[in-house]
Amino acid sequence: MQHALPHETATTVDAIRAIVGERGIVTDAASAARYLTDWTGEFTGEAIAIVRPASTEEVSQVVRLCAAAGIAITSQGGNTGIAGGGIPYGNRPHILLSLDRMRTIRSVDKAARTATVDAGVVLQTLQETIAPDDLIYPLMFGARGSCTIGGNLATNAGGSNVLRYGTARALCLGLEAVLPDGSIVSDLSGVRKDNTGYDLRDLLIGAEGTLGVITGAILRLFPAPVAVATAFLSLRDMNSALVVLNRLQDVSGGLVEAFEYMPAPLVEAICAHLQMRPPFDAPAEIGILLEIASSRPTDAEVDDTGTQNLQGIVLAALEALMEEDMVVDALVASSEQQRADLWRMRESAAEAIFAKPHVYMFDIALPLAKVPEFVSLTDAEVDAAGLSTLTVAHLGDGNLHYTMVADSDAAWTADTVNRLKDHILERVNQMGGSFSAEHGIGRSKLDFMRRYRKAERLSAMQKIKAALDPAEIMNPGKTIPAS
Ligand code: FAD
Repeated sequence: MQHALPHETATTVDAIRAIVGERGIVTDAASAARYLTDWTGEFTGEAIAIVRPASTEEVSQVVRLCAAAGIAITSQGGNTGIAGGGIPYGNRPHILLSLDRMRTIRSVDKAARTATVDAGVVLQTLQETIAPDDLIYPLMFGARGSCTIGGNLATNAGGSNVLRYGTARALCLGLEAVLPDGSIVSDLSGVRKDNTGYDLRDLLIGAEGTLGVITGAILRLFPAPVAVATAFLSLRDMNSALVVLNRLQDVSGGLVEAFEYMPAPLVEAICAHLQMRPPFDAPAEIGILLEIASSRPTDAEVDDTGTQNLQGIVLAALEALMEEDMVVDALVASSEQQRADLWRMRESAAEAIFAKPHVYMFDIALPLAKVPEFVSLTDAEVDAAGLSTLTVAHLGDGNLHYTMVADSDAAWTADTVNRLKDHILERVNQMGGSFSAEHGIGRSKLDFMRRYRKAERLSAMQKIKAALDPAEIMNPGKTIPAS
């Protein structure tokens, strides 16, 4: 926290306190600390106060005050972002605006299959609330117990089920938000078609809090699956992956929800971290966590041998793929516990990776056909430089969290790491990929924006920012480089 505030700033803090009440403001350093360091521990920041409004109207009043006083605002949901976007940055006085008191699920419309929620609702809480109505909100990743709907939308989060359901953007029908001048824009009607000019929803989604504060959203829900087939596969090689994925899409009618790359070193690290047994005794060099799910009642019917139809279809396809030597081994979950164990392994990947003393995780996306070449070339180079890799990937989307790690300080020199970073990003660029697939730019990838985003595109973004936030109070120093 910043101490000895200038008089006007202290007056603004008092005025904020009058809006949000004592419960809505934190100014002592010890209580503020957890809001001012990010999940990775890499990013820290300062704020004159942590402000915790309880309603959209309070957010609006706070933003108006800050705009008048020239105080910057960094919004924060669950603080699980890994690009440093949710932590204040720079020398200007900041407030950290936490949505952690805006946690109401405002309504669930079972017939329309929508939920209207406050931005601070925790992803998993929404999922658990709608489960008894046989509905799902399909965003799925390891941080779902803490991340919020507002943070998911602000980062356009992805995760394991994008293959089937799309990113957070595709799951959102409308937003309520407070713009940098304090005005409230609200579009929570749930209409599915609305071509009435520029789409503010699409501008705010993925803007990482640089254009406004998301305070509410109306989200698309889906029927809960009645049949699920989950398996861990060992593939012959990376080139087989696309064939296997396409075959499984074909036999299931496009029902593949997850196709997650978990190579042997990653599975070993996770199993050591969780103290659990790996799926196979012999490590699967190319391990894939597969999930196929259906809400069609006929897929849940059981044949004479007790096998569910969907499972039967998946088993037959896997047998054929084994005969063709594409799949070397397959463990199909035969109980809910086995399925949960496989998912626990996947959802603990980030935790196990970041437990290493030295880590650099990319968040890249590549055209699917380029992935095998990228992985084999890059693994060899990282290995030759004396580092290791612990890569996990949403392979079905070509999204790789390609990760370099080292256990010893000696191997992890700035020289080696920076050289490899530059080289790898250059390769991604040449292969037509993206340096930022789903985690956002935040603070961590601003340099890459300068290097790899065309000047025309950056300039358009800067003009949008200048038009909506001329005083640059919303999350300054993040996402787009200054003009
Ligand atoms: P925060 O971390 O609080 O904020 C993230 C960004 O959004 C910041 O720029 C912040 O200013 C802005 N923001 C937050 N709330 C608002 C709001 N209401 N209005 C405006 N701006 C706001 N991400 C993926 O996409 N896929 C994954 O598979 C994935 N796996 C993860 C696994 C682990 C273990 C962890 C720790 C993180 C993972 N993430 C993943 C990253 C992270 O969980 C997501 O980016 C998540 O959407 C962030 O939500 P949050 O509420 O924690 O946002």
